[in-house]
Amino acid sequence: MIQKAYKTEIDPNNKQKTLLLKHAGCARGAWNWALGCIKNAESKPTIGQLRKKLTELKKGEFAYMNEVSAHATQESLRDLDKALTNFFKKRAKYPKFKSRDRGIGSFRVYGIKVTDNKVHLPILKWVNLKETGYIPTDQRIVSATVSEKAGRWYVSVAVEEEVEQQDTDGVIGVDLGVKTLATCSDGSQYANSKALSKEESRIKHFQCKLSRKTKGSNRRTKLKKKIARLHQRVTNIRKDATHKITSEIVKIKRPQIIVLEDLNVSGMTKNHRLAKAVCDANMRECRRQFEYKAEWTGVEVRFVDRFFPSSKMCSVCGTLKQDLKLGDRTYKCSECGLIMDRDLNAAHNLKNTVSSTGGPSGVVAEPRIKRVLKNESKIPSVRRELTLVEMTQ
Ligand SMILES: [Zn+2]
Repeated sequence: MIQKAYKTEIDPNNKQKTLLLKHAGCARGAWNWALGCIKNAESKPTIGQLRKKLTELKKGEFAYMNEVSAHATQESLRDLDKALTNFFKKRAKYPKFKSRDRGIGSFRVYGIKVTDNKVHLPILKWVNLKETGYIPTDQRIVSATVSEKAGRWYVSVAVEEEVEQQDTDGVIGVDLGVKTLATCSDGSQYANSKALSKEESRIKHFQCKLSRKTKGSNRRTKLKKKIARLHQRVTNIRKDATHKITSEIVKIKRPQIIVLEDLNVSGMTKNHRLAKAVCDANMRECRRQFEYKAEWTGVEVRFVDRFFPSSKMCSVCGTLKQDLKLGDRTYKCSECGLIMDRDLNAAHNLKNTVSSTGGPSGVVAEPRIKRVLKNESKIPSVRRELTLVEMTQ
């Protein structure tokens, strides 16, 4: 079993915002009270004793703490216990009192439920998530830590996942494209979402309207907001689609090696006609997801040099077709007579690079697996972090 934490931004309503502040405030209050007890007492109380005492105090002096989930305060004591242990083991400094001036802080709760776009927390009930489909809904949820940063609230859901044994020794070549987002050498294809092109034509329509509105007018401001929201929606749809594809290939198909083309995306976007389409297909995001998901499951991701002619080469006889045009959707080999979908042929070529002979051209892909967290900061709006909490057998 492996524990992973999925951190993503939440979108609380006003009532929930107040409750969030209360929870964080009580967590801070419990920490400070307990730390005070420990500092002032002659014989140091144990955390167990402090827990009991806190429950007593909630009937009187600390009655306000009953408005929040008891987990928040009790978990705060547990954190303090850990901090003290770390201090005595010389791993950390002595814990400090938590001041409101140094931030609202965080709290931890149990009994969490998650759907694609909501998280259920005790007392707070269903809280909207800003990003859909990110937190897995089919895994055992251990706990959730809610924290605030610069006026935004985040939830970090700790999930227990089972890492199963790899039972295939297969290789899958994946051709990332524009219209078809991904084509696998096993014949499966994933089309780019239709919802996306629909939303995009709406954006275009509104942008046209926008250009006719007077600058600084109310209507223009409203329309601008509407367009911004649509852009966010498009981003979400894209992410959902790529998450589904990469998860399915990595977790369900379970190959030992995934071979991808090392596309020079920045180079391709210089070509204006292609630029939009390439961004649409969200290839970069797709590859990033492949890399980190593969790393979790022990699947190896290999990249084939971008000058490798995966599209132009026949995957059966290795003949190069120099006059292949971008619009040719079918690959027809004049040598061996192969007729195959262009992307599928490319996926086969990628797969062939890992065969024992090194494939028709003798190109053997070099393994290249990047670290997970490095690229996370590049996602601007919805901050998310992924951390491997702990690994247990
Ligand atoms: Zn051929």
